[in-house]
Amino acid sequence: MSFVYHEPKTVQEVIGLLLQYGDDAKLLAGGTDLMVLLTRFKVDPKHVISLNGVQQLTGIYKNATGNLEIGAQVTHREIEKSPLITESLQALKQACSTVGGVQVRNLGTIGGNLCNASPAADTPPVLLVLDAMVNLKGPKGARSLPLQEFLLGPRKVNLEQGELLTSIQIPEVSPNTATVFLKAGRRKAMEISLCSVSARVTLNRNGTADVRIGLGSVAATAVRAHSAEDLLQGKVITTELIKTAAAAAVNDCNPISDVRGSAEYRRMLVESMVRKALIQCLDILQDSNAGTKIS
Ligand SMILES: Cc1cc2nc3c(=O)[nH]c(=O)nc-3n(C[C@H](O)[C@H](O)[C@H](O)COP(=O)(O)OP(=O)(O)OC[C@H]3O[C@@H](n4cnc5c(N)ncnc54)[C@H](O)[C@@H]3O)c2cc1C
Repeated sequence: MSFVYHEPKTVQEVIGLLLQYGDDAKLLAGGTDLMVLLTRFKVDPKHVISLNGVQQLTGIYKNATGNLEIGAQVTHREIEKSPLITESLQALKQACSTVGGVQVRNLGTIGGNLCNASPAADTPPVLLVLDAMVNLKGPKGARSLPLQEFLLGPRKVNLEQGELLTSIQIPEVSPNTATVFLKAGRRKAMEISLCSVSARVTLNRNGTADVRIGLGSVAATAVRAHSAEDLLQGKVITTELIKTAAAAAVNDCNPISDVRGSAEYRRMLVESMVRKALIQCLDILQDSNAGTKIS
């Protein structure tokens, strides 16, 4: 393995290098995915372009529109510890805090997690329920996409030649919202997920709910469980309704069998984890006195 290592300082320089070297180039963020591929000879770039010197890709902040913006180079550990990730965005902290061990989280970035496009990645199901947009920059300028349109399949993202992910944008979440992330694996820590579920529940004044559910590791990309959401949307949530919706969520996934578990087992996990995630969201809302009791 041999390559030329580049250390650009600006996004424009990165775009220039990507255009110059095309398919011979690979971007390097934290390297926790890329280095594994390099050392196993699964990729063999002639040019490695480090993003670590590009200040424009760092930081967690409120942008001009009031949305939360997270630079592509922000690490999982920074998200875990950020005071800007408030109570209602707990699911994002929960997801980031389950990525590998502390060493991996100190290096691994949210941008790398999305661009690596593993169906088992932990942040996409959460970012889907948070209606996250990805901000991209390339030779034709800047564009933004809903995350679902960015994730095209295993190891495939919607990036054009010379383009990179610059940041992730999360619209403001209403105060009476709870979010949860749950992950199942063969062991409790340092584990790639067998199935992951994120839920977001907002309780309206009249007791009805707005609900979003994201699933990971059970389809080619993270997906929203629209069938389950439709059953809950605008309704007063009851235990019975949660049960019905959790069963419906199984229709929204398309799992495979692999070394980590069978497709059938993953479907069972989807049903039980969706139920658990919804109940946990309602428990959080009840504890914060914003919610109503479910019957
Ligand atoms: C021991 C171990 C445990 C792990 N456990 C988990 C886990 O539990 N959950 C989980 O989700 N992941 C896990 N991972 C995978 C990995 O840590 C994460 O996916 C991490 O977020 C990747 O980020 P990175 O900065 O290291 O990406 P890199 O490895 O630097 O890059 C990954 C890919 O994204 C591309 N890329 C990076 N940034 C950009 C950008 N801004 N624009 C365009 N393309 C870009 C790179 O070219 C590369 O193809 C684990 C990895 C290891 C080694």
